[in-house]
Amino acid sequence: MIQFKGKAALITGGSRGIGAETARMFAELGADVAINYLSSPGQAEKVKADIEKIGRKCLMVKADIGNRADCDNLVKATVSEFGKIDILVNNAGIWNEAAIENMTDEILDRLLDINLKGCFYTTSATVPYMKKQKSGNIIFVSSTAGQRGEAWHSHYAASKGALISMTKSLCPELAPGGIRVNCVAPGWVDTDMSHDALIGPDGPRYLSYIPLGRAATARELAAPIVFMASDWAGFIDGEVLNVNGGAVLVG
Ligand code: NAP
Repeated sequence: MIQFKGKAALITGGSRGIGAETARMFAELGADVAINYLSSPGQAEKVKADIEKIGRKCLMVKADIGNRADCDNLVKATVSEFGKIDILVNNAGIWNEAAIENMTDEILDRLLDINLKGCFYTTSATVPYMKKQKSGNIIFVSSTAGQRGEAWHSHYAASKGALISMTKSLCPELAPGGIRVNCVAPGWVDTDMSHDALIGPDGPRYLSYIPLGRAATARELAAPIVFMASDWAGFIDGEVLNVNGGAVLVG
């Protein structure tokens, strides 16, 4: 069975949605888990309580993933608590709408800082520890938007496409150090991020594009993320795993 006994995992954006379920699932399978939160301390407390209830440790750190110093502190705090860092899931992200003619620096910079630069910050802070251990697993959470584009969300789609090319760049760069780098690309997932859109007037149209006829649950994303970090995926590297109910069929 997949198990992470003795492993330490850091899940960014672990306070809610996909990140929270991923944190819980890693703990269920034996890992100690670090999560960050920014605006949802109460939700992060709930995740921490759930993890402690099943007998694993949970470190909860306030960190803005769009800020390099916060990301450095988050990684340092994880290593200082658990003595190492085996798994990094770059999951924190935001999704907002902006037509290209309304794409101010403020909108663009904030999204790219969190969705893209934050992944560079956490990954570059983590890799030296993984290299020292000669092992590690890094997972990026992209999106179908990064594969097929998304009208009125060009900044979001660009950030998610960049995570795919980042995955493919870091795979050969880090493989000699014993570090696997993979990507999971969700389609619609029913979380706080997308719930209003899914129940809004365009919701039925979004769902009609999904052969399975519904949005995923956060837990249906946690499982493939956990799988990619496990020994069962030991020869999978530089891969993009589509988890979209058949909506976007890309290789
Ligand atoms: P969500 O429910 O909105 O949760 C987002 C998480 O990211 C929260 O834990 C939030 O923490 C954290 N976060 C956001 N900005 C942050 C910042 N500046 N610093 C630190 N943490 C920050 O979203 P989700 O649906 O779980 O999405 C998770 C990932 O999946 C994202 O990268 C998203 O783009 C991707 N994705 C989602 C969908 C979907 O349909 N939901 C589809 C494709 C891809 P706080 O609340 O504590 O601030």
